[in-house]
Amino acid sequence: MRKHVDFLVIGSGIAGLTYALKVAKHGKVCIVTKANLVDTATSYAQGGIAAVTYTPDSYEKHIQDTLIAGDGLCDENIVRITIKESTERIRELIRWGIKFDKTTSGKFDLAKEAGHSEYRVLHHKDSTGREIENTLVEQVWKHPKIEVIENNFAIDIITEHHLGIEVNRRTQHITCFGAYLLNPRTHLVDTILSKTTLIATGGAGQVYSTTTNPPISTGDGIAMVYRAKGTIENMEFMQFHPTALYNPQEKHSFLITEALRGFGGLLKNSEGKEFMQKYDARLALAPRDIVARAIDNELKILGDDYVYLDCRHLPKNELINHFPTIYAKCLSIGIDITRDMIPVVPAVHYTCGGIKVDEFGRSSIHHLYASGECSCTGLHGANRLASNSLLESLVFSHRASVDAIETAKNIEYNENIPDWNAEGMVYNEEMILITQSLRELQSIMSSYVGIVRSNLRLKRAFDRLEILYEETEALYNKSILTPRICELRNLINVGYLIIKAAINRKESRGLHYSLDFPKIIEKR
Ligand SMILES: Cc1cc2nc3c(=O)[nH]c(=O)nc-3n(C[C@H](O)[C@H](O)[C@H](O)COP(=O)(O)OP(=O)(O)OC[C@H]3O[C@@H](n4cnc5c(N)ncnc54)[C@H](O)[C@@H]3O)c2cc1C
Repeated sequence: MRKHVDFLVIGSGIAGLTYALKVAKHGKVCIVTKANLVDTATSYAQGGIAAVTYTPDSYEKHIQDTLIAGDGLCDENIVRITIKESTERIRELIRWGIKFDKTTSGKFDLAKEAGHSEYRVLHHKDSTGREIENTLVEQVWKHPKIEVIENNFAIDIITEHHLGIEVNRRTQHITCFGAYLLNPRTHLVDTILSKTTLIATGGAGQVYSTTTNPPISTGDGIAMVYRAKGTIENMEFMQFHPTALYNPQEKHSFLITEALRGFGGLLKNSEGKEFMQKYDARLALAPRDIVARAIDNELKILGDDYVYLDCRHLPKNELINHFPTIYAKCLSIGIDITRDMIPVVPAVHYTCGGIKVDEFGRSSIHHLYASGECSCTGLHGANRLASNSLLESLVFSHRASVDAIETAKNIEYNENIPDWNAEGMVYNEEMILITQSLRELQSIMSSYVGIVRSNLRLKRAFDRLEILYEETEALYNKSILTPRICELRNLINVGYLIIKAAINRKESRGLHYSLDFPKIIEKR
């Protein structure tokens, strides 16, 4: 099947949906998602969304907090744009119907998270993402100009390469003409021709064994753009959230939001002693990289599998009222957070790097935009400030929509694009190899490319990944396509990009910490 649309949107999280709602006034929109519309990382966001609302907070304070967290690698212009546009983007969310918690006096009930110097995180209890996702999905379903294709997998973006023209990373002018889309039920691949395309495919946490990210977070967009010879940046900066619930029974790690530490939760080791005072004067509210490394060190010193978050001293009713999801989740595995300490471990949480874009979300490939966790705008630098990511998605999806609406006016469809060539592919009888290779990949990344890295560990990871890459490419080239083999291939691509970027960074900075280039972290 061939389809023509003005605006193709790959991904249905906050980045894809807000962009789609904006461009839909100007042409035909198609949103594609590989799962159901609400199966996104957005739905999991707990803490909230950072934005400046009242004094004593100010844009300048939020800007400085973001720059400090980013450890010298933020693009200051992008930071200023994002934060100065935060107020308008929040107003827009409210106009769409999203409800943020308020105090009895009618003001927003702002939370404070690690690295923030003021209370500025707007939230909807501890399920902000679900409130945002569900409200946006409602708007999308009723929009007459938006077509939604669920459970279809974008395999590759279409460029000159598919016309038989050779492109490489030095090619100045690569153009995106749309994307190839796999229907997993029929195994048929559709050709979607689009005037402009937005990649909003989210992060890549699934490249590690332990992650707070949902199963959809397999870095597909990053890998697609890398294969199309687009620019990818900052992949060494994978953020570990310091406090995921320790529950070996579950593959997907449940997040214990930073807001709980902001609310007064204390980190303690297995001896029941607080330890953050040894690492940073901001204690449990130091930036995430510092807290994650501190926990990693405590675990190594004591030989433990987890540390504790202690909330037992906090007012019971307020605790349950502010954090109902966490309370219910912990209770479901026998932990009453008002009486028991919560076992926690660091888990991979956020992909700071990704598809390099400019201030209008434009990638290095013409007519191709990226927004949300798959992109690298320069906002986060070497470390993301908590709750800045939903904000980044809003700001850059808006900016990309403004540019794409103008760009689409002057583009004709390229009718010379061939359909997907499935010749020579046979049913793959060894699906188990995909599962085993995925486990191997995740184990390599967790063992050798984790919170603390070294030249030796990175070299080991690189060598092992090379073998997996060769094996998987051979399997991919002869197999009938399935989302699982495509995801494995994409995750291997992403693993390669992380390792390569980590090897190239000859220093410790932000989330990248190397024993061979240690940085003396002064106590602040
Ligand atoms: C547990 C958790 C808590 C968080 N808490 C916060 C918070 O409090 N504040 C904050 O700012 N951030 C938070 N984050 C981060 C934030 O939620 C994400 O960065 C953000 O939601 C990403 O939005 P997105 O639109 O870029 O991607 P997502 O919401 O992940 O959506 C990606 C979409 O792309 C689709 N997709 C992917 N690959 C393909 C493909 N090949 N073909 C078709 N479709 C595809 C997926 O199906 C999905 O629809 C949290 C993240 C997690 C996991």
